Amino acid sequence: MILDRLTRDLYAEICRIPLIDPHSHIDPRRSAARNLDDLLGYHYYTELAHSAGMSKELLGDVPPHPQPLSPPGARGDLHVSPRERVRAILEHMDRFDNTVQHSWFQEIARTFLGFRGERVTDQDCDALFDAAERVFGQANWEEQVLKKSNVEKIFLTNDFDEPLEGFDTKRYVPCLRTDDLVFHLDKPATRERLAKATGIDATDCARLRQAVGKLFEHFANKNAKACAISLPPNFVPHPVEDEALSACLSKLHEQQDDGASKAQCSAGVFWMLAEFCRDCRLPFDLMIGVNRRVYRDGVHQGQDLFDQRTSLIQYAELFNAFPEVTFPISVLTSVQNQELVSYSWIFPNVVTNGHWWYSNIPDFIERDARARLQAVPKTKQIGYYSDAYKLEFILPKYNMYRRILAKILADDFVRPGVFAERQALELGRLLLRENAMRVFSVE
Ligand SMILES: [Zn+2]
Repeated sequence: MILDRLTRDLYAEICRIPLIDPHSHIDPRRSAARNLDDLLGYHYYTELAHSAGMSKELLGDVPPHPQPLSPPGARGDLHVSPRERVRAILEHMDRFDNTVQHSWFQEIARTFLGFRGERVTDQDCDALFDAAERVFGQANWEEQVLKKSNVEKIFLTNDFDEPLEGFDTKRYVPCLRTDDLVFHLDKPATRERLAKATGIDATDCARLRQAVGKLFEHFANKNAKACAISLPPNFVPHPVEDEALSACLSKLHEQQDDGASKAQCSAGVFWMLAEFCRDCRLPFDLMIGVNRRVYRDGVHQGQDLFDQRTSLIQYAELFNAFPEVTFPISVLTSVQNQELVSYSWIFPNVVTNGHWWYSNIPDFIERDARARLQAVPKTKQIGYYSDAYKLEFILPKYNMYRRILAKILADDFVRPGVFAERQALELGRLLLRENAMRVFSVE
């Protein structure tokens, strides 16, 4: 609850700004939750319950959010019903009801499911599960959630071979996710998917360029507004000559990878993607610093962590080589925020983007957002994105951000007399809506 009046007024006004959510993992054909399992199957709950002592066997074999980026075997093998899985997580929730992730769930239960108790406990399992089936089963549930969350456009995360059909691309904006192309082209399955999607067998650099060109054309025709990738800490982008890239590709095709070819190939493909972003005028979202599978025995999507060896200096050559490409940058930790602030302060093509994953915690968001507002041009900041898998999470996550933003606007801008209230609200509008619209060219 917000105690002081100015902050409360600013918060109420900010909530009226229709959101552009520039990064999510929403499936546009099943955007809203169908039951409580769809919400509590979110990795934040399974990983917190597991880290607080719950056996992951209790989660069973049903992947709530299948994602090609995750390794197989990350889930248990037993069959567990959705209701039992929810019960298992709720039974462990009292061990992490101090966390902000818990407060997101509590806010969903209050806002969407009519929960009136003080704390959700395992005693509420059946009542909440039944309420969720009833409420989420309404024919216009998706519309209701979108309206209540005041969100106008939501960016997706699309695999390169998705047909992008059967949904409104003005509301659910496609975004070409390229992790597989850059880091998994050594796998025959990825190359087959690429060949199937484009009709081109990318055995050398020229053919790869043709294939990638087809992907960009397909995505552009379907209203895609960004290309995106998550990057490990040791990755250093650099150009690769066509001949060298061809040589690496043929090694990968002949299954003669020596490690070096794969790394060279990743660099070459990444650079090629940046060239296509330049030619197609698409921003290239970089999510920097994630180490996959650090906790190998973790739950589905609860295995990855950050690595402080990452530095944006690794991207200096890229930022210099592509002045025409806008790079909205997400960093995994608050520790990297100062570097990001400085890079977007200096490079015209570097933009701060949201508060990603391990830095998406109120304490870090407040410091990071405050530093950005003190040092980075206000037109170069994309305030927040939900990273949500289900629409219901957009509301509590954005509310968390909006409360923090209202506090910063009150304390740093209105009270010291830097901005009048009206100007402070215009700043909020840039962060929640207008900068994303301009950077990603959406109307
Ligand atoms: Zn994401």
